[in-house]
Amino acid sequence: MKKVVKFGGSSLASAEQFKKVGKIILDDAGRRYVIPSAPGKRYDGDIKVTDLLYDCYHTAEAGNNFEDKLKTIQARYQEIIEGLGMSLSLDEQFKEIRKNFSEKAGVDYAASRGEYLNGIIMAGYLGYEFVDAAEVIFFDEDGSFDDDKTDDCLSQRLASVERAVIPGFYGSAADGSVKTFSRGGSDITGSIVAKAVHADIYENWTDVSGFLVTDPRVVKDPEVISTITYKELRELSYMGATVLHEDSIFPLRKEGIPINVRNTNQPEDSGTLIVESTCSKPKYTITGIAGKRGFASINIEKDMMNTEIGFGRKVLQVFEDCGLSFEHTPSGIDTFTVYVHQDEFQEKEQQVIAGLHRTVQPDSIDLESDLALIAVVGRGMRRTRGTAGRIFSALAHAHVNVKMIDQGSSELNIIIGVENRDFETAIRAIYDIFVASQL
Ligand code: ASP
Repeated sequence: MKKVVKFGGSSLASAEQFKKVGKIILDDAGRRYVIPSAPGKRYDGDIKVTDLLYDCYHTAEAGNNFEDKLKTIQARYQEIIEGLGMSLSLDEQFKEIRKNFSEKAGVDYAASRGEYLNGIIMAGYLGYEFVDAAEVIFFDEDGSFDDDKTDDCLSQRLASVERAVIPGFYGSAADGSVKTFSRGGSDITGSIVAKAVHADIYENWTDVSGFLVTDPRVVKDPEVISTITYKELRELSYMGATVLHEDSIFPLRKEGIPINVRNTNQPEDSGTLIVESTCSKPKYTITGIAGKRGFASINIEKDMMNTEIGFGRKVLQVFEDCGLSFEHTPSGIDTFTVYVHQDEFQEKEQQVIAGLHRTVQPDSIDLESDLALIAVVGRGMRRTRGTAGRIFSALAHAHVNVKMIDQGSSELNIIIGVENRDFETAIRAIYDIFVASQL
């Protein structure tokens, strides 16, 4: 077995957490490639090292004294090193960081040091080889991740390394400077490494026991999803479910490498397995419920709209010209509605209305704001009769007025539009009917 294991910031926030991680890794000889994040929060209200680094660098960039801030960061690492009983010193590394900060090496360089230093400690602690991500992960001229170059270089480099620690979150830009992924990007590094070494599995260790059926801020102690497909996950992440960085799915999706989300603080839990496809029947008809508030709808009415070929294209052209992306376009015989993000739309509202009048001469345009979209996702809905019926009767019982329904023909998800104020009630009602009532 060849496993790539990534540990999030909370799993590496202190020496105590490091010890748990060390035990997890050494418990299974297959856990050969380790991707650490930077130390995260040790307690509520604590500050992640990545954020300390951003702050310290901004101070340096402004030409102010950043010594105390850098010392605070070094103390965080020192505490871990001492707690692990190691004799390692990071003085040399901090000397170099101090110099590079003074020379304004860049904000990405600064942020990446969190993972870099944690990688050095982790490699020393485990006795694994340290492979600097800047030497094996590349971005192209446009700043996009360079998949081919990285895959070639990384697979060659790791072919001769039995066990290694590769820090997450960063790589090298085309000009050789350090560049990071977006926040939470160590997840992406893990996927890239798993792809390069053809891992059997990519384990992503965090502080929750996997993906939950819905948001725990809305439903108390929701069930954990045991198996989810990449497609289902994509739908849920798009609608706001967060555990893994969204972009970490793409490198693995085509490779058929499963991801297992696990909990460092409860390693006995099996977590959530994310797979390309599976014939294992889901426990419930639905796999998950996610949603977002803050949408607006633009409802366009025009008599005999259906006879006007090109009507929809012209409407969408107006949104495109205003640089707005649309979410859904439910339509009737003489109506066409466009759902957009409210905050983006508000800035362009009058431009859109004028554009619509000019291009499609509607009879009326009706705007509605403060809407929420809820996605009910599940491969189990395919060819299952009555799912939509159950959703809508649950919503009716909960006195939620449904404003929009959209079901793709893949039958993988049903999107429901409700008013913002009904958002939580609606999610609870759907969770209760499909999950809580089945327990
Ligand atoms: N340390 C980085 C962040 O806080 C990257 C990561 O944790 O994945 O975003």
